Amino acid sequence: MKKKLFKNILLAMAGTLLFSLVLIILVLNQNFAEIETGRLSSQASMVQAGIETSGMNYLQKLDEKEFRITWIADDGTVLYDNTTDPKTMENHGNREEFIEARINGEASIRRYSSTIAKDTYYYAKRLDDNSVIRLSQTNDSVFALTLRLATPILWIFILAAIVSAIVANRLASHIADPINRIDLDHPLANNSYEEIRPLLTRIHNQNQQIDRQIEELHRKKKEFLTITDNVSEALILLNTEGKTVFFNRAALTLFHTDEKQIDSIMEMEQIRQLVNTVLMGKDSEAVITMEDETIRVIGRPIFSRKVLTGASLLAYDITETYSLELQRREFSANVSHELKTPLQAIMGSTELLRNGLVKKGDESTFYQRIHDESARMLTLIDDIIRLSQLDEDAPVEETKVDLSDLASETMEALSSAAFRKNIKLESDLHTAIIKANSRMIYEIFYNLIDNAIRYSKNDTSILIRTWVEKDQAWLSVQDHGCGIPKESQARIFERFYRVDKSHSRATGGTGLGLSIVKHSVARCHGNITLSSRLNEGSTFTVNFPLLNR
Ligand code: ADP
Repeated sequence: MKKKLFKNILLAMAGTLLFSLVLIILVLNQNFAEIETGRLSSQASMVQAGIETSGMNYLQKLDEKEFRITWIADDGTVLYDNTTDPKTMENHGNREEFIEARINGEASIRRYSSTIAKDTYYYAKRLDDNSVIRLSQTNDSVFALTLRLATPILWIFILAAIVSAIVANRLASHIADPINRIDLDHPLANNSYEEIRPLLTRIHNQNQQIDRQIEELHRKKKEFLTITDNVSEALILLNTEGKTVFFNRAALTLFHTDEKQIDSIMEMEQIRQLVNTVLMGKDSEAVITMEDETIRVIGRPIFSRKVLTGASLLAYDITETYSLELQRREFSANVSHELKTPLQAIMGSTELLRNGLVKKGDESTFYQRIHDESARMLTLIDDIIRLSQLDEDAPVEETKVDLSDLASETMEALSSAAFRKNIKLESDLHTAIIKANSRMIYEIFYNLIDNAIRYSKNDTSILIRTWVEKDQAWLSVQDHGCGIPKESQARIFERFYRVDKSHSRATGGTGLGLSIVKHSVARCHGNITLSSRLNEGSTFTVNFPLLNR
């Protein structure tokens, strides 16, 4: 602003200076000419009178230094000149002042010589004999005079520049100070110039609009944070450099990290590859395993007006579904395998019988085998159906069940199996009433006692107990059988897991009994534990919440 003001003031001053100078030169020029012509004319009249009275004598006696006097005959021959020998001078018949004086009686002319920067004034007067007397004087031109004024003019110009700078400085401060003092937060409260009132009103309106927009942004941000922080899925937004610009609370929980180290998840190879693909503008998905957890990550590029501006990562825990899916696949494979074995045995026996390859009298053995394998398949299919029913989680009827009643019932049902191995079924039964599905409780007893008989040697005993303790109803089945090795104890509840496959098969096991037990216990809100020592025996203990009477 200062610079602009300085420039404008200086320009105005310089302009005025120049204009005045030109005007002065023009006026001076005009005045000079008039004065000079007047002087020459009166001098010429005197010389005319002299010549007319005394002729050449007058001129020769005249001692004139100021003016140049030339007398020119009517044919242009120079008769006299007080500065040059007339004989050396050329004919002046063609001179402008001579011609004009001959016609008009007198002539006044000025000639400018640019080489010497001087003006020469001529005044010519016709005498009675038609000769012409001419007076002339050479003076410095007005321009030369002006040139001599250049130094003072320069000084005036420098002075003008200094004055301009001071004035510009003062003026700028004077104008800018009130503007600088304006409180832009409350523009209408300022008492500055009336001229900037419209600007202040505009700023005031804009301030209001910005305030409204900021408020709206805050509201939207709050809404967004409330939504994103309350979802269980992790949401991470990245910029085009792959740096995290936003993440929700679930992201920290899912990736077990904190706000400062959220970028560290990009160090995981699978996530890095996924992000690279997404930042090339393509959708991508990955399943990553972190310790015991399985996480699905879905990456999508973010475009704004067709330009890639970042990426979004949505991640969620699929540990359960993933392991269920694995279990389902494993289960299908196991079912097929388990069904194939008895079917192959049945096919083999029937083949031999049909082709008459069985020795006479041995047929019954083959028929027995076909019967046993079919029975095994039936048991297997029953168990599979039962497990899938339990898997369905369909509501079941719950009644008052006394564990001791169902223990007795099951012992009764399995007494012949125990008898065949001379195993003594001992019991210590106390009333323990719970609310549960009686079929499930029966299945629990049946599978546990059946296993105890099958995995015990002949002539041993099994103890079945039911009792109440610590507000819980308890049952236990203790045998003195082969026991379960430590490393298998956590796995025996898995479907089709057997410690000794051939022993299980030989005793008619399906590998599903304990899975059914585990499911049934869970459905009856109970808990099962195992304590077992190899070659010494096993004890399965189950507790349920006692029915509040
Ligand atoms: P199975 O039909 O093979 O008995 P289960 O699911 O009932 O299948 O049992 C799984 C495995 O656990 C059995 O194959 C066996 O190895 C082991 N097991 C179960 N109960 C006993 C027990 N009382 N004593 C020793 N091992 C047992």
